[in-house]
Amino acid sequence: MKNIAVIGAGTMGNGIAHTFAQFGFKVRLIDISEKALAAGMTTIGKNLDRMIKKEAITEEDKKQTLDNIHTLTDMKKGTAHAELVVEAATENLELKLDIFRKLDECCPEDTILATNTSSISITRIASVTKRPEQVIGMHFMNPVPIMKLVEVIRGYSTSDETTKTVLELSGKLRKTPVEVNDYPGFVANRILMPMINEAVETLHSGVAGVKEIDTVMKLGMAHPMGPLQLADFIGLDVCLSILNVMYDGFKNPKYAPCPLLVNMVTAGKLGIKSGEGFYDYSESKKAEKVSGIFSQKR
Ligand code: NAD
Repeated sequence: MKNIAVIGAGTMGNGIAHTFAQFGFKVRLIDISEKALAAGMTTIGKNLDRMIKKEAITEEDKKQTLDNIHTLTDMKKGTAHAELVVEAATENLELKLDIFRKLDECCPEDTILATNTSSISITRIASVTKRPEQVIGMHFMNPVPIMKLVEVIRGYSTSDETTKTVLELSGKLRKTPVEVNDYPGFVANRILMPMINEAVETLHSGVAGVKEIDTVMKLGMAHPMGPLQLADFIGLDVCLSILNVMYDGFKNPKYAPCPLLVNMVTAGKLGIKSGEGFYDYSESKKAEKVSGIFSQKR
């Protein structure tokens, strides 16, 4: 496999394109927005510079990685020769169904269609294509070039062959793939989101403050980041949406989002991306936090 198309050049899409390109794949990075494509390439350039600084890669590696990525807004053109498509567009069911209907029409018959969705059912996405056995979840973690895990999610109809190809491919990106089945939240968010929700509930009921809750989990459980800081990093709107998917999917009140989380999202306090969540992120602090996370040792 050599030719990859990535749909969406946002936080995850540019990280996925960066990672494939770094390991020699030819990547078509596709977005509806020219601005998002330009911003995505700027981010990739900066992240490669950070790797050079840490002597993880050379200037020549950076050049080759950037040369391996072509950006475009035309999905049909961008996927015409793709052997694998990884969709990382905005988390919205109707949008993803529409993208997969189009991908099914314009990609070659044997192309594998993967989605990086955090919470939407792979089986549901596959159902709008004529190739459900070739549709799979490839759930990268943020920041993609750093994080080792790829949660590989089998939809109801995903074939063994498709799964095997994606597991092997993840290894070629020096990631550790873990195969899971398609149920709300998969494994990562099924366990992570109730923990974050419980941290918000603990704050809401006045048991302890933000820093105290995060410190208990960092020092007591050896978590690299407290759950409230992690929620700010992921985006409170994203956490809320995943909890709602699990609540609806299992019809179980244990997944009901804490009213404080709902209120904060309604008030536009979404975490790092909006400048305020459980913590305050002035411009300088924001840069400090993001680069701090990114400069973890590979
Ligand atoms: P984002 O908002 O940063 O980027 C989404 C991009 O998709 C935008 O650039 C937007 O212009 C583009 N887009 C929208 N409609 C499109 C279309 N029809 N065709 C092509 N591009 C289109 O979002 P993100 O955080 O990168 O999330 C992308 C996906 O990855 C979501 O499914 C999300 O659930 C998942 N995810 C996110 C994280 C995270 O930490 N952010 C982690 C794991 C998985």
